Amino acid sequence: MTHCPYCALQCAMGVALRDGHVEITSDQGLCQKGWTAGELLTNGSRLTTPLLYGRAAPWSAVLDHVADRVRELRAEHGPDAVAVFGGGGLTNEKAYLLGKFARVALGTSQIDYNGRFCMSSAAAASIRAFGMDRGMPFPTSDLAGADVALLAGANVAETMPPFVRRLPRLIVVDPRRTPTARLAELHLQPTPGTDLALALGLLHLVVAEGLADSAYIEQRTSGFEAVATSVSSWWPERVERITGVPVSRMREAVQLLKNADKAYILTGRGAEQHAKGSDTVSAFINLALALGLPGRTGSGYGCVTGQGNGQGGREHGQKADQLPGYRRIDDPAARAHVAAVWGVEPDELPGPGRSAYELLESLGTAGGPRALLVFGSNPVVSAPASSRIAERLRSLDLLVVADVVRSETAALADVVLPVTQWAEETGTMTNLEGRVILRRQALSRPAQVRSDLEVIAGLARRLGHDFPSEPGAVFDELRRASAGGVADYAGITYERIEAEGGVFWPCPGEDLAGTPRPMLDRFATPDGRARFVPVEHRPAVEEPDEEYPIYLTTGRLLAHYQSGAQTRRIGPLVDAAPEPFVELHPDLAEQLGIANGDLVRASSRRGAVECVARVTDAIRRDTVFMPFHWEGANRLTNPALDPVSRMPEFKVCAVRLERRDDAASGVEAG
Ligand code: SF4
Repeated sequence: MTHCPYCALQCAMGVALRDGHVEITSDQGLCQKGWTAGELLTNGSRLTTPLLYGRAAPWSAVLDHVADRVRELRAEHGPDAVAVFGGGGLTNEKAYLLGKFARVALGTSQIDYNGRFCMSSAAAASIRAFGMDRGMPFPTSDLAGADVALLAGANVAETMPPFVRRLPRLIVVDPRRTPTARLAELHLQPTPGTDLALALGLLHLVVAEGLADSAYIEQRTSGFEAVATSVSSWWPERVERITGVPVSRMREAVQLLKNADKAYILTGRGAEQHAKGSDTVSAFINLALALGLPGRTGSGYGCVTGQGNGQGGREHGQKADQLPGYRRIDDPAARAHVAAVWGVEPDELPGPGRSAYELLESLGTAGGPRALLVFGSNPVVSAPASSRIAERLRSLDLLVVADVVRSETAALADVVLPVTQWAEETGTMTNLEGRVILRRQALSRPAQVRSDLEVIAGLARRLGHDFPSEPGAVFDELRRASAGGVADYAGITYERIEAEGGVFWPCPGEDLAGTPRPMLDRFATPDGRARFVPVEHRPAVEEPDEEYPIYLTTGRLLAHYQSGAQTRRIGPLVDAAPEPFVELHPDLAEQLGIANGDLVRASSRRGAVECVARVTDAIRRDTVFMPFHWEGANRLTNPALDPVSRMPEFKVCAVRLERRDDAASGVEAG
């Protein structure tokens, strides 16, 4: 048994090779992406040979070259001259070993990963409120037993379809009438960038109408008075003016939540990927706390994690400010514990380093890294202001990319390392509900392909460090390194995971059960109470103006996953969604003289892209939507960062749209 290579639902599946074809089986139902995931294991687009400056070369020569260049650059510019960029799809073992490799073998503080672009705002807000970030602190099976769930900025009917079956009646907050919004009892369609004002308005109504759960607030929380005072000026008419959501709809939402015996508030990237994403999530958590939801069986707040190992990927040290076990790298006790497991002195551990976008933007600049090693990430497509990032990558002295396909980032690399895929390797993932699961190797791998763990250990050995490369051995070390941390895996073993169908962290001992619902008795704050956090709305960093008069928001499609590096190479998925497009309202289309199917140019202050227009009334008149699975959409997006999570403002920026024939000459697409 293994699990799907894509999203955080991590559906279980069987994989077998029959007559040269990979056969996938499942008794719980998969989405189209899961059913077709086997194609990339055998189709011609996967990488099977290491490449050194575009030419096939033996592994030993390629790794020797990387190690030599790393040594030279470190000698010339210091240890921070070499940077590492990881991914939220890497197994826990890979994320852990990559963090150790950066801190111990390279001695660099410059490591971060693409999960910074994914769940970091929800993580920051959860830690502020609950003292702990376990995206969903409850099994997803709890959701079906609730009366209602408010889903802010998550289009799960496309991103993780089987999850929809687990949901109760829905209130959906989304600027688009997505397939998920069509399933909802109530759809609130705010202006992009105004979710925070909407959450403040909903809380205002709860407080003003005496609907807050005062017994719960008294017993289980702190800080309510300050938040109640701060939302007093967010009266519904003011919120309607800012968000465009009618007061009657807000009242309906509050009534649905208040009349429910059990309810959930869930956030996704639509609410989180903003320069105020942490505050937006805090506002939704404040609403959940006022209604008395978190820390009760059958109710709560949760984040709908996106990437396959989005949860585990942020627990074990590939994030700039973290050490394994969800420890902080600036905490002396955490440093001492992890240093002892790694056999080094605490003072030798560098960090914290730059966050993902800041790291990418600094590449090749004065004082910035001269070399980058990328594992399981495609920032040329997925980073905001992506043309600038591609330029930074081109300026490096050394770019090394380990991947399964020649992604847009691998296409720029000096060294490309072909690595194993999900079904060809063993490792653990932590799904969106905090359940640690095991992907067992199901198929043999091509002869010239190595696992990321072998690549990392091979480079470490050349730099004078003996690292394990066998997944079980790496996991045992991870368990020791995480012991005593917030995300404590000490009691989790491969055997237990298989016997118990996954183990929820924290699990501090082999004789102790996992913890599906860690906040029932107390929250993970020093006094055990959840904290209300006062937050204020502010406009998007870039609002539409005369030059760029339209909001752009971005998101995902049913057929593709993240940067599309894998799914854009799978026949049935390409047939289902062959090309990028921009979605716009018929009124806006008429105003701009654009018809369905026209080639259009979308431009922002950061770049331009051409694609096909799709006219639909499922979107607001002032907003256009682009899927981000193809290189181009993120040329337009705004890299303004959240001050707490360092999340870029992916979900809202100002653009101009023109029919291709009308587009001003001299503006280069790209
Ligand atoms: Fe399940 Fe997500 Fe894979 Fe679809 S992409 S099969 S929802 S894990």
